[in-house]
Amino acid sequence: MTKTIFQKIIDREVPSKILFEDDKCIVIEDIAPKAPIHLLVIPKKPIKKLSEVKPGDKNLLGHLMIVISEITKELNIEDAFNIIINNGKEAGQTVFHLHIHILAGKNFSGFFPG
Ligand code: AMP
Repeated sequence: MTKTIFQKIIDREVPSKILFEDDKCIVIEDIAPKAPIHLLVIPKKPIKKLSEVKPGDKNLLGHLMIVISEITKELNIEDAFNIIINNGKEAGQTVFHLHIHILAGKNFSGFFPG
């Protein structure tokens, strides 16, 4: 099975700006930022997309949310950021290894419902 670009980054086969890492996930800078701050939170477990998560992934998914909460505080963007998960090709997913986008420094209020 060919590795995704994110698996290659996790395995240190492709360089990336890694802001945070623990045993369950990494947080990297997006190579083509869509906002002044654009990070990707990537679980080390190679889940293809959100719709493939299982009940056993509950702790992992919660952990990713805690990491988002902590890293946005560290970056002083805790009061103004958006998170996005593109699920499936038709929804714009291009890398089939689950990841959560963190976007900040740009107002997306006209873009998303809210
Ligand atoms: P998605 O469209 O939700 O699958 O998001 C994939 C994201 O990965 C895009 O925002 C890309 O810019 C980003 N990306 C692709 N290759 C790399 C890379 N080598 N390093 C960092 N981000 C990447």
